[in-house]
Amino acid sequence: MPRRVHLCLGHTGATQGRPGAVHVTPKGERFDEVKIVRAYAVHAAELLEASGLVVELDGAGSYRSRQRRAAHYGSPYIDCHVNAGWREGWAVRGSVFHAPHALGGARLATQLAEHLAPLVGGAKVWDTSPDDWRRHAHSNLMSTGRAPAVVFEPAFLDCPDHWPVLREPEQIGAVLAAGVLAFLG
Ligand SMILES: [Zn+2]
Repeated sequence: MPRRVHLCLGHTGATQGRPGAVHVTPKGERFDEVKIVRAYAVHAAELLEASGLVVELDGAGSYRSRQRRAAHYGSPYIDCHVNAGWREGWAVRGSVFHAPHALGGARLATQLAEHLAPLVGGAKVWDTSPDDWRRHAHSNLMSTGRAPAVVFEPAFLDCPDHWPVLREPEQIGAVLAAGVLAFLG
């Protein structure tokens, strides 16, 4: 059976009415989370398919229904986003959140963060266990116990250091694909 990976397109489909973030720079340049997510996820899918994987690019239904589909196949599930709300001087640049207890989620998150870090000036892994305040931001992540599941927030729309990367989101797709391949070995 071919190996599979499930890439969820954040804020598409019936995603609890939560629209993607948009940031307009002082010079009027517009960074749109949904467009950037689609661009990097599509590129990652191309690279992964070229490596022989079956990729589900999922933008239909709720986050939970997508994660259930991934769990059905035992596929690693990556919920793709771009962050907003960056603060000057904040050391955390890229973030990868993993569901508690989901099989291999911490290892998948670590691989993604390690590949992402050089591109965006650092990346951190967050455990969405109940005592982590960030759990509330990603309560859509479940512990299915069937497959690793993470939320991927590779950059900030409102961090000026990230604008060059966001103009060429294929770079994010390349590190995402490399992280997935490293995880799958
Ligand atoms: Zn988002």
